[in-house]
Amino acid sequence: MPDYDALKRDLEGIAIEDNPALVRQKSRDFYWYSPVLKEELDKVVGDLVVTPKNEADLIRVLKAAYAHGVPVTARGGGTGNYGQCMPLSGGIVLNMLAMNAIREIAPGRVVAEAGIIIADLDRQLRAQSGQELRFHPSTAGTASLGGFVAGGSGGVGSIHWGGLRELGNILRLRIVTMEAEPRVIDLDGWDLQKVSHAYGTNGIITEVEMPLAPAYDWVDVIVGYDDYMDAVRFADNLAQRDGILLKELAVVAAPAPFSYFTRHKPFLKEGQSVVVVMVAPHSMGPFEALVAQRKGDLRFRSDRVESMKGIPHAYELGWNHTTLRALKLDTDITYLQVQYPGPDHVEKVERLQRLTGADTIGHLEFIRFNGAVQCSGLPLVRYTTKERLEELIRIHEDNGCPIFNPHRYTLEEGGMKQTDAVQLAFKRETDPKGLLNPGKMIAWENPDFDFTAGKNYLFPGLAALE
Ligand code: FAD
Repeated sequence: MPDYDALKRDLEGIAIEDNPALVRQKSRDFYWYSPVLKEELDKVVGDLVVTPKNEADLIRVLKAAYAHGVPVTARGGGTGNYGQCMPLSGGIVLNMLAMNAIREIAPGRVVAEAGIIIADLDRQLRAQSGQELRFHPSTAGTASLGGFVAGGSGGVGSIHWGGLRELGNILRLRIVTMEAEPRVIDLDGWDLQKVSHAYGTNGIITEVEMPLAPAYDWVDVIVGYDDYMDAVRFADNLAQRDGILLKELAVVAAPAPFSYFTRHKPFLKEGQSVVVVMVAPHSMGPFEALVAQRKGDLRFRSDRVESMKGIPHAYELGWNHTTLRALKLDTDITYLQVQYPGPDHVEKVERLQRLTGADTIGHLEFIRFNGAVQCSGLPLVRYTTKERLEELIRIHEDNGCPIFNPHRYTLEEGGMKQTDAVQLAFKRETDPKGLLNPGKMIAWENPDFDFTAGKNYLFPGLAALE
């Protein structure tokens, strides 16, 4: 057992919280979306919450934690879904939210501290420069920039820009290592992939440089279709129209919209599936022309309602907010994360809908992936047993649709991040005692781990780049 009294003495002057109820609160994320993780992680709790105000504080924290052998798990907004920021081995929960300064805003890019809340950053970017982040998670209101880079994948804006995995969507990261004398390292180019989506297992991100796009007064739109596949085909057609500028394009199958989108209910028609879109104001004319041609039922547009008071943003109907809205009203619901590789993604969606429709409600997010339109899915699943959930995963994989399993808390089993010899060597360099977010990287815990398990990863390994 580490000497926590000595640790606290070393950290004098830095904010420390050890009230058990507050530490417990800061030791969780949205792991409970998964009935499997809920069972596995419910008891996970840290020992202390430590809040550095700047990089100098952070270096002191890491140096002291290293000396006392105390694990450190970084936490931004705590909105991750797979226990990413939950301290499996106890120790310090490192609250990054006080490191939230904006360092520089320039045409096309911003430099900010990792703990800044994404919506705050976007608000300041818009006010000061008429720009915004290229894309953000649907949790922008509570998630941090560093947490997004370390734990997220893409989101609102990925229909135009792709995800975090695309070269150019993160420009630079500054990290502090977990060593006797912590070092500050700047990463760019391919090296960014060492740290992006690595759950804070190989360095604490202090500063992030991101590319920007022009900010628009995006119009939220909902288009209804009586048939789910008609909605999917409309969305696919719209996604291919390079002249129409979009920020979000999701399809949610009936009965979810009418049942779960309570604030939008007055605008919706029971039994319809919906396409949720964010359209640039100057693209509304051509967008409406396409809706008319494809016989869509335009149910809602934010620029025509009397007041948006009490009505959430369209993006808070998409991504994992769709799941959240379902879970609020129906606790038996969980979800999967599916990739439908193109160019036949629509056929794959149709096939999987046929094969699993009795257990699932369709939810697709159209995105750009390797330069082409594709859709990823977050289907709602009516949960019965672990075995049936595994069977649903197998049915998707047998039909050419990889699953990024949200019912696993390790990097490798989640399936988004591939670890390999380069990744492991970097961890040895930055975290030689394995104190950063222990338990999340199988390759570290198990030296016999087979990197070549043949899975398809969203953030591929680094060995191939060398
Ligand atoms: P946290 O949950 O606090 O942390 C995430 C991971 O990053 C953890 O492993 C943590 O240890 C690590 N970390 C945090 N800060 C640092 C740091 N400074 N240095 C090193 N490591 C760090 N994700 C998407 O990608 N797109 C979406 O659209 C999306 N929608 C969501 C909707 C809902 C309703 C929910 C509940 C989740 C959603 N997510 C989505 C997941 C999550 O909200 C995002 O990935 C979010 O960006 C995480 O940010 P955070 O600050 O909450 O990170």
